[in-house]
Amino acid sequence: MSIDSGTLYIVATPIGNLEDFSLRAARILKEVDLIAAEDTRHSKKLLEHFGINTPMRSYHDFNQVKAEAILVEQLLAGHNVALISDAGTPLISDPGYGLVKTAHERHIRVVPVPGPSALISALSAAGLPTDRFVFEGFAPEKKAARLKRFKTLINEERTIIFFETPHRIADFLEDAIAVLGPERIATLARELTKMYETIRRDRLQMLYEGLLENQQQGKGEFVIVMEGAGPAGERPSLVSDQVLSVLLEELPLKQAARLAARITGEKKNALYQRALELGEKS
Ligand code: SAM
Repeated sequence: MSIDSGTLYIVATPIGNLEDFSLRAARILKEVDLIAAEDTRHSKKLLEHFGINTPMRSYHDFNQVKAEAILVEQLLAGHNVALISDAGTPLISDPGYGLVKTAHERHIRVVPVPGPSALISALSAAGLPTDRFVFEGFAPEKKAARLKRFKTLINEERTIIFFETPHRIADFLEDAIAVLGPERIATLARELTKMYETIRRDRLQMLYEGLLENQQQGKGEFVIVMEGAGPAGERPSLVSDQVLSVLLEELPLKQAARLAARITGEKKNALYQRALELGEKS
């Protein structure tokens, strides 16, 4: 650790409700020499609300390299810097990875100041297993890439978490149903900590229909928490998916499932269920 360098603080800020701003976060942001913010105009409102007058400089995806060099220079000169994002915990689907990595490489002390994150807030309220989970960030924007991403998750047993925007949430659910099946339980956490917060736990199909029926439910920011696949042995493997897909091109559903069971040694019922899902997709 460099003795003369300043400290880089990674400070979480509210995801909606300003009461979630921690006393420590407020103190650190007042005490540091510089705040690196994703959008300085956006963060100005938060800082003003808490009477924080610390100078700010922007650090976002489009000026990362240049901003990073300046921030590291400041840190090496002994100044303390705090990194914040527009909302929640920096680096969680937000900028900052390059800066934190460089700080470590330059032996600059990095200190997290924990607080709100949509990811952990949604998981804690989802009513799905929390002992093991994977965070997938945002699903790809393009349909083909999104379907491909979901396919990689067919056998994922851990709870799966995604971020999503209002204009893609319906497509997200439609594609998740196509690949992971309509029966999978998921929780749609919308507008967390805000006035119109809604947390719905249901089958993917029901969540999708609910969204189509009530346009209001499609507005705002979303976290989707999905249950993982059942234990291996109770669900078809990737190999059996491939076998099924080929057989379904030539045979009726039942026959395809029966033959796939003979070929792969997997359970006929699970394969029949999977054949239904694959049949719906094609
Ligand atoms: N770093 C942030 C965090 O720790 O929460 C996340 C930033 S990411 C760019 C923004 C995404 O987080 C949104 O599109 C949404 O998926 C999720 N998100 C942020 N605030 C939210 C909220 N209040 N309710 C639900 N989801 C939210």
